[in-house]
Amino acid sequence: MPNQIKACVVSEKKVTLLAKLPRLYSMEFIDLQTQRERIQPQLEKRIQAVLEMGQFILGPEVAELERKLEAFTGAKHAITVANGTDALQLALMALRIGPGDEVITTPFSFVATTEAIVLLGATPVFVDIDPKTYNLDPAKISAAVTSKTKAILPVSLYGLSCDIEALEAVALKHKVAIIEDAAQSFGASQKKRRSCSWATLSCSSFFPSKPLGCYGDGGACFTNDSELANLLKQIRAHGQDRRYHHPILGVNSRLDTLQAAVLLAKMEIFEDEIERRQGVAKNYHEGLKDVAGTPTIPPDNISVFAQYTIQVKNRDAFLEHMKRRGIPTAVHYPTPLHLQPAFSRFGKGVGSMLISEAASERVVSLPMHPYMKREDQMRVIAAVQEFAMLNKDRD
Ligand SMILES: *Cc1c(COP(=O)(O)O)cnc(C)c1O
Repeated sequence: MPNQIKACVVSEKKVTLLAKLPRLYSMEFIDLQTQRERIQPQLEKRIQAVLEMGQFILGPEVAELERKLEAFTGAKHAITVANGTDALQLALMALRIGPGDEVITTPFSFVATTEAIVLLGATPVFVDIDPKTYNLDPAKISAAVTSKTKAILPVSLYGLSCDIEALEAVALKHKVAIIEDAAQSFGASQKKRRSCSWATLSCSSFFPSKPLGCYGDGGACFTNDSELANLLKQIRAHGQDRRYHHPILGVNSRLDTLQAAVLLAKMEIFEDEIERRQGVAKNYHEGLKDVAGTPTIPPDNISVFAQYTIQVKNRDAFLEHMKRRGIPTAVHYPTPLHLQPAFSRFGKGVGSMLISEAASERVVSLPMHPYMKREDQMRVIAAVQEFAMLNKDRD
């Protein structure tokens, strides 16, 4: 475990001093180089093996990775694909979702979640989120179910699993499938059930900055249903069941063997990285809980903190302040999906989207990765505390 920061809320003078410490090096929002240095020998060995073997598409590393992903998550089948957006599209295709079908989803996510639904000609139906977890609120789903509803597509946002048991209950009641968008939550667990292991289908991404990322695009679908797994394997390879025989319509969406090799090297240290993320999150929580809206991680959850996202009032001024202090930040996401022009024709969903709309105005993500130095964590905390102090009298 990384060192814990003891006294985080320090005197005003010290906060100001700390926040103003000269910058000797720039801070990364997500540092991938320290990780690369750590696994360099394994990476080289793995990549060299692929180059020598020369099987760049669906080589042995892809199958090896899929077995490791299954063992890690507990899902019966892992089917790797070209990226996380494709994973969502392929999952919807495997469930034969298309024009005339409705999919209930969250407006508070990355665009890909809704994009996949719309690309297949189906209709996204937005339902608002829970204000504490930022995840789809299961209590609001039933009101949105119609005879056309085929699936619920929750997102496990920022690395925290969506509310598994409540979603299972509502899906069972209405006899619809669940597709978990686990692009940010690979490695997360809830009551010891890992993200990607429980839904009808789960979809994750190995985009470089995700908790488990490769050196390019990558993704995977997960399921416990062997029939769906076989369908997905066909769909990712042009719908073929054997060479030049295409019973169904498919696409070209496979994970490169080289990316599988990178992921195999990274899987070896992934559990340790999840631990390290807990250490950073704990320090942030201790240092920030009195001055900003820190994330709520419900009991029995392990978040992988794809993002460490806080809420602040007066966000524009906050972003400016952090920039002056040399601390990178990001906003995930400034516009909820029901307000995106590309999706406006679907209306604003069922019920009000006020929680998503309010969150989109206040959220800010702070630097977060497993190799964050203690000094950097202190600097982030000091800068946030300093902002709170300077803005104490305004509202
Ligand atoms: C990153 C992400 C995706 C898409 O993954 P890609 O691999 O970039 O296509 C989908 N949904 C969410 C919530 C994401 O964060």
